[in-house]
Amino acid sequence: MRFATTALHGGRKVDSDTLSCGVPIYRTTSYLFKDTEHAANLFALKELGNIYTRIGNPTQEVLEKRIAMLEGGAASLALASGTSAIFYSIINICEAGNEVVAANNLYGGTYSQFDSILPQLGIKVKLVDPKNPENFRRAINDKTRALYCETIGNPGLTMTDIEAVAKIAQEHALPLIVDATFTPPCLLRPIDYGANVVIHSLTKWIGGHGTVLGGIVTDAGNFDWTDPKFTLFNEPDASYHGLRYAHDLGEMNPIAFALRMRLVPLRNLGACISPDNCWSFLQGLETLSLRMERHSANGLAVANFLTTHKKVEWVNYPGLTENENNSTAKHYLKNGFGGMVAFGVKGGLNAGKRFIESLHLISHLANVGDAKSLAIHPASTTHSQLSEEQLKASSISASMVRLSIGIEHIDDILEDLTQALDKS
Ligand SMILES: *Cc1c(COP(=O)(O)O)cnc(C)c1O
Repeated sequence: MRFATTALHGGRKVDSDTLSCGVPIYRTTSYLFKDTEHAANLFALKELGNIYTRIGNPTQEVLEKRIAMLEGGAASLALASGTSAIFYSIINICEAGNEVVAANNLYGGTYSQFDSILPQLGIKVKLVDPKNPENFRRAINDKTRALYCETIGNPGLTMTDIEAVAKIAQEHALPLIVDATFTPPCLLRPIDYGANVVIHSLTKWIGGHGTVLGGIVTDAGNFDWTDPKFTLFNEPDASYHGLRYAHDLGEMNPIAFALRMRLVPLRNLGACISPDNCWSFLQGLETLSLRMERHSANGLAVANFLTTHKKVEWVNYPGLTENENNSTAKHYLKNGFGGMVAFGVKGGLNAGKRFIESLHLISHLANVGDAKSLAIHPASTTHSQLSEEQLKASSISASMVRLSIGIEHIDDILEDLTQALDKS
């Protein structure tokens, strides 16, 4: 099946009792055991099946199977949010004393997690400029356990050369974790370029309507966890019958990463996704590739419009030929450049604020990936905790406005931008 077809049919199993065409929402916390032996087998992992919805749910399973197919991965695990997907991906690999080398142009929430929460657990994150992939290599030492980057950084919209970073990761026998939220799998599949773990905030384009929160982690199944430096995969887990995840899972060894994440961080920390939210994300997936076509066409039209506007200082959109990311973007994004556009309003901080306050159609809020167009002024909101130096390092200027262009009629979007720029 091609992408658009898998997005509608992937992982679906027709309910044998009702023959329901739509995927049922299994609103249950727990599942009956057939007998005591069945119960014992489930707990001992001799048989895989449903026990309790914190660990898994049949609606969630369809979503996980479908995403794994769309990403070209081996298995996926859906979680309560993109934020928990990121946290669980790190703590599924790292312990106190370990290090992660990460790109410095991260989503604000990820930056805070890496900067202030992970150090509390003794995990150090070294931030490097991803524009030169060699910066990752320079920061690797014998404590490093993973490399981490985003496909398109936020809000500077810098594209990382994933293939080059994946090669460095491979040379050092380290997994590469990629947050691909800004490039849903119809635009870019990081596993095709050597990534080992792919994260999405489902909240954004996959949900697609600004209504539901969720995250998902996809295990590519292409990493060798038997290297003893990955203690969590090689030493017996006392909390799970002495299981060594890299060795004792038999035919499930290729999905050791996803399975351990379900059995350890998810089971014991509990950021599970609700079956209702899984259903909403399945609904979103059905139209994902159609919506991305429109997001991309509108994004490009807005970028071209702003480029020639006299009140605009600069425009950043990976699809513009003069953009510094254009050659990387063209290499990775064959089906469109997405809906994220950043630009500078002439007149600095106050002009940026006046522009935002004058918008009528485009909503001023902190989100991206909604079918409706959105705008934010990062310096006074999402990135306001950052010092002037940190702002500079993340390439955010006082006049920067970040747009998440939706799927409305392009003329209505351009009219709103025109009148708001006039008032800026
Ligand atoms: C939104 C977002 C997250 C966090 O996801 P939530 O679902 O809001 O927790 C992580 N990374 C990126 C790139 C995002 O855009």
